[in-house]
Amino acid sequence: MTDTMHSAMLILGSGPAGLTAAIYAARAGMKPIVIQGLEPGGQLMTTTDVENFPGFRDVIQGPWLMDEMRAQAEHVGAQMVYDMIAEVDLSRRPFRLVGDGGTIYTGETLVIATGAQARWLGLESETRLRGQGVSACATCDGFFYRGKKVAVIGGGNTAVEEALYLTNHSQDVTLIHRRDTLRAEKILQERLFAHPHIKILWNKAIETFVPGEGTAGLVGLDLRDTVTGGVSRLDLDGAFVAIGHEPATALFRGQLEIDADNYLVVQPGTSRTTVPGVFACGDVMDKHYRQAVTAAGTGCMAALDAERFLAEARFEASVAA
Ligand code: NAP
Repeated sequence: MTDTMHSAMLILGSGPAGLTAAIYAARAGMKPIVIQGLEPGGQLMTTTDVENFPGFRDVIQGPWLMDEMRAQAEHVGAQMVYDMIAEVDLSRRPFRLVGDGGTIYTGETLVIATGAQARWLGLESETRLRGQGVSACATCDGFFYRGKKVAVIGGGNTAVEEALYLTNHSQDVTLIHRRDTLRAEKILQERLFAHPHIKILWNKAIETFVPGEGTAGLVGLDLRDTVTGGVSRLDLDGAFVAIGHEPATALFRGQLEIDADNYLVVQPGTSRTTVPGVFACGDVMDKHYRQAVTAAGTGCMAALDAERFLAEARFEASVAA
């Protein structure tokens, strides 16, 4: 028999956006169901030190923060389920989601907080060597490169933070960027330039992630100079790709408006998507800020918007009756 679960609010995703929506919705008596997805807790589960979440003078840990948010959401009445949603039908209310085990979830409203995932360069050699010297998360995998030679690819905040983080494990870190200026914040750039264990290679694009003999993993990178076109080899033990993120919107294609960068489109100043009753928050709709605290803020907005939407729908139904 197929299980069916119903709620006034379904929340898809359990990062800071989804869990903040859950806390607000539960406290408003909406008994939300949070469908946690493949990576419960979202991107902060792979972050170590968090220094910029308000309210904590000391450095806190990302996974700890997410545990606290989840515990708070459960404490005020949110229900957590572990499932991967395979199908979504937003053509009528209640909206209908189907988990990959067949469970059906119906919701009077839906809050989408599916977040974003690390972007890859898309080279065949990169795919082949993933997990064998090639990673997209220094805080997850940096430990394996203690005392080894590593590189980070990218020029944004993530790349610079990852390079700085890797100096906890390695004294030989290279940042490789395709241009001759970084887009990372100035304060991070200053830390990077001042660090004695970090070198920077400017104007270099990755041609190939070079494998070792037989089953050996990565042993180097072939780099193409973006100015001269010349190709050179850099010997390495590990390479970390840090070139941005891809929002998780594939499930909603054809049902909600999605922009050219694959982000869900919301009405400015709200969390409202193009389908009434469906709201979006966090990194899946935010390409500008992408911070835990802004994700939490938009999660709050989504819960309040959903609550108002339901109150208006009930009022209209009572007037019509
Ligand atoms: P990002 O700012 O979009 O930077 C991506 C970097 O990767 C850029 O330097 C880009 O090069 C490079 N890149 C993109 N595609 C590439 C390709 N195919 N080949 C080579 N290089 C490529 O991404 P992010 O660093 O992940 O940051 C995302 C957002 O989160 C930003 O808004 C950032 O401020 C924020 N963030 C904040 C913090 C913090 O506040 N502590 C930490 C992490 C992230 P170009 O510069 O040439 O385009």
